[in-house]
Amino acid sequence: MKKVTFFLLSVLLSTTVILSGCGANQAAAPQKQAEAKEVNVYTERHYPDIDDGLYKAFTDKTGIKVNIIKASGAELIQRIKTEGASSKADIFFTADAGNLAVAKETGILQPFKSAVLEKNVPANFRDKDNMWAGLTMRARVLIYDKERLNPEQLSTYEDLADPKWKGRILTRSGSNIYSQSMLASFIAINGEAKSKEWAQGIVSNMARKPEGNDRDQAKGVAAGIGDVAIMNTYYLGQMLNSKNPDEVNAAKKLGVFFPNQNTTGTHVNVSGAGIVKTAPNVANAVKLLEFLSEAEAQGTFAGASSEYPVNPAVEPSALMKSWGTFKMQDINLSVLGTNNKKAVQILNEAGWK
Ligand code: FE
Repeated sequence: MKKVTFFLLSVLLSTTVILSGCGANQAAAPQKQAEAKEVNVYTERHYPDIDDGLYKAFTDKTGIKVNIIKASGAELIQRIKTEGASSKADIFFTADAGNLAVAKETGILQPFKSAVLEKNVPANFRDKDNMWAGLTMRARVLIYDKERLNPEQLSTYEDLADPKWKGRILTRSGSNIYSQSMLASFIAINGEAKSKEWAQGIVSNMARKPEGNDRDQAKGVAAGIGDVAIMNTYYLGQMLNSKNPDEVNAAKKLGVFFPNQNTTGTHVNVSGAGIVKTAPNVANAVKLLEFLSEAEAQGTFAGASSEYPVNPAVEPSALMKSWGTFKMQDINLSVLGTNNKKAVQILNEAGWK
């Protein structure tokens, strides 16, 4: 009893300002104060034209303001760790399942249950311990110039390591999470030794030292710098929708090829989010994730962003349908996190700068 009295007293003393104006019954449970009408999103996503519109639609619907902090996934995980209990972060939103797995392992996320997310997001795109949910899906495909290359010459990721592709492959840096997660998936499927051989083969076949982002690889193919780019599908869609006519013209020349259709499937990844362990606005965070999984937002992801919706009730856009359907890798996406360190090491050793 004494302990309880002391606790109440110290709470009352330390929260006088916050509690002024509140009834006595709130004083016993200061942590249960009403949440602010806001949600703080720490995001790695780099598609502001699309995401900002979705956040605005959420605010219009719910009155909950969305505050955004942007940085790389690794930087945000570190920042949340450093901020500790005083972190304002409610949602950790990444463009890669590897970072979601790392965030989970690091202990910065909390489990959450939502019937809406369970209905909208298939189990294979959700963490088995309810730490995160995928919100869009993307495939890492081969992009080629429709006039210069017959897609019949393309088959698998593995084939791109053959010397016949010397000086013809365009890809971004090994320090990028998309390259790391792709290799992490190959480690899960083909083992370390074969993945290392493959990475070395790709490095010897590169048209240039890796530079720029995925769009730059597509532009490199359109400009004839290389013949095949390894990149995510949606960038081609975003280039076709771009306000920059050079991007539109480059993208119009390019075709999409889904590799490994007769073998292990095309590498896919998700952009998804989890709720931070110390989140001050958990209920608002759940509401935002639910909103992003519903048909309207999923349709925006598909139409404006060319990302595959995870919600099976929503169809891909006409453009995405024109690329065709495809078989995906059959792996649990958490291996992208588990194998990340090994992948980084292999990429470094192979000289995939
Ligand atoms: Fe991206």
